[in-house]
Amino acid sequence: MYDVLIRDTLILDGSDQPGVHGNVAIRDGRIVAVGQCNGEAAQVIDARRLALAPGFIDVHTHDDLEVIRNPDMVSKLSQGVTTVVVGNCGISASPVRIRNDVPDPMNLLGDAHDFCYPDFTSYRDAVQRAQPAVNVAALVGHTALRQNHMDRLDRTATADEITAMRKQLRDSLAQGALGLSSGLAYASAYNATSSEVTDLALELPRGGLYATHLRDEFAGILDAMEEAFDAARTPQASVRVSHLKCAGIDNWGRSREVLDYLQSTSSHQDVACDCYPYAASASTLDLKQVTDAYDILITWSESEPAQGGRLLADIAADWKLPLMDAAIRLQPAGAVYHCMDEADVRRILSHPLTMIGSDGLPRDPRPHPRLWGTFPRVLGHYARDEQLFPLHTAVHKMTGLPASRFSMGARGHIREGWCADLVLFDPARVRDTASFHDPIRAAEGIEAVWVNGRLAYDGQNVVARPGCFITPQASPAA
Ligand SMILES: [Zn+2]
Repeated sequence: MYDVLIRDTLILDGSDQPGVHGNVAIRDGRIVAVGQCNGEAAQVIDARRLALAPGFIDVHTHDDLEVIRNPDMVSKLSQGVTTVVVGNCGISASPVRIRNDVPDPMNLLGDAHDFCYPDFTSYRDAVQRAQPAVNVAALVGHTALRQNHMDRLDRTATADEITAMRKQLRDSLAQGALGLSSGLAYASAYNATSSEVTDLALELPRGGLYATHLRDEFAGILDAMEEAFDAARTPQASVRVSHLKCAGIDNWGRSREVLDYLQSTSSHQDVACDCYPYAASASTLDLKQVTDAYDILITWSESEPAQGGRLLADIAADWKLPLMDAAIRLQPAGAVYHCMDEADVRRILSHPLTMIGSDGLPRDPRPHPRLWGTFPRVLGHYARDEQLFPLHTAVHKMTGLPASRFSMGARGHIREGWCADLVLFDPARVRDTASFHDPIRAAEGIEAVWVNGRLAYDGQNVVARPGCFITPQASPAA
């Protein structure tokens, strides 16, 4: 007797192969039959005209505290996401002991009192207690470690500080952390030398993960990639370049070069990247990125809250100030930067080493639409409407590829014996509806989402929270 039998569906199994029609049966949290299975089931779903895929894996999130604060995780479940990787860009909720103010950009995650996980185990326990709807795997952030051990972040760490950071990273890895992340572009880590990061990365096991928001996504991107690849070489760790992009007008069109470098490195080192399907980025308002070359939308401002939702250029004009002076007056603030070229975004999305990661910012009152729209946008807009790649390739970039590249064990494929993280969607109807002006909107065409074999989203509402904490595991042999 099966728990659920999904009948007559197009099975996109996560492997980048065209779908096949058949049935899929679930029991006790696992996929137990694929193909012509026809046993008794407590629930039978007729899924004609729908497609069944492994649950989507959002490899790049800042949901560290969101999975505890709002464990329904409707922004993700409503896209078909069943697993999130947190702790990206050098910022993680643990292990953290806040000393003074929360440094930028850790303030994207929460306020000082939210950071109450001085070691990785306490964070892992808190996630388990919160029972989020999605599975959670967590990186440890380099900036978070700096914050713990340094009196100021505008310098490189001393040998003693590096030793202390290494110990904390080592302990976290032993307690189930997925790997190390960095955000060297941010002022809170920019003055860390390459050797500070290289020393930390020595704690990673062979094949362990180093995910990095590169030191430079503008003119110096190739050097920044080299720095990232070098850091992982001695421990033979895997590099995941976060939200790969060619930012800034002077840098447009360089995606070929950037991807060639990633591709050629992949012949001798495990390197890959993630990308979100938009030509605009979002983060805290960074004075280094203030320009009149493209639109900058202010999403929030602590000092000038009424300006949230307006263009920086319009605010500056109202105030009769240069852009930079207006930006300074708005801080601390958040911003969306329309800093990319669509052709580069498409080329990066299409590359076989590219996975999908939302980089959504759940605390932002006017979040970049990637928070609610990333996965359906890749399926609907880019795969179906724009035919950038086949639907099964889109699914692979969000399932089988990230599962294997982020050490997620028996997830990311529809195979007998594997975890029953599944999404049923309508390939004809699936689409993102969140926009820059109306960003908090659930996608259309996501019909049902199972997490660990239990229905978590029924196409309208979150109906259960079956997620669990995931520690790194190799994939079982196929
Ligand atoms: Zn980042």
